[in-house]
Amino acid sequence: MDAIAKEAGKVVTAFDEKSNKSSKLKRPTRAEAEAAVETLIRWAGDDPSREGLTDTPARVVKAYSEFFAGYQEDPEEILARTFEEVEGYDDWVVLRDIRLESHCEHHMLPIIGQVHLAYIPNGRVVGISKLARIVDAFGKRLQTQETLTSQIANAVDNYLKPLGVAVLVEASHQCMTIRGVHKPGTSMITSRMIGAFQDDPRLEERFMHMLNRS
Ligand SMILES: [Zn+2]
Repeated sequence: MDAIAKEAGKVVTAFDEKSNKSSKLKRPTRAEAEAAVETLIRWAGDDPSREGLTDTPARVVKAYSEFFAGYQEDPEEILARTFEEVEGYDDWVVLRDIRLESHCEHHMLPIIGQVHLAYIPNGRVVGISKLARIVDAFGKRLQTQETLTSQIANAVDNYLKPLGVAVLVEASHQCMTIRGVHKPGTSMITSRMIGAFQDDPRLEERFMHMLNRS
């Protein structure tokens, strides 16, 4: 049985962006989700029973389970395993150009971009793949770029307890390019500085410089 079928009807934990807390929601069944896609096909003006569209609701629902896999991820669990034997390493750890794939919560259209992240260890480091997974855990949900930026920075701050965290996100929003104002090529930049990066503007400057953005 696949993940969606297993989850169907079960109460699952979802993320409430406003309260920044998890809330309990009853997940619809896969059949209910497919019926909703059929309704949207009819709304678009097509016939869901024609040959080319018969498997589309199933494909869309399957794609949704990928797009929104972040709801099944627990950031605390991802960052739980840290390494303390770093031979006194106390300088920055910087990860550049982590691919971001998300969907805006207003139009459910893709947000595609990069996340750059730095932290100053306080005796503990985490595997770099874990930092990339944190980006997906929050990215693969319905999001705003501002919330996403804060969530990534706060998770690293809360679970890794470093001396400082810096996160910069640059992304383009399809809701600005294929609809509405139709402005392709526009990217949005958001950042969040915590701890030492917030207290000392020179550190923020050094971070931006590392990303060639000073
Ligand atoms: Zn949007």
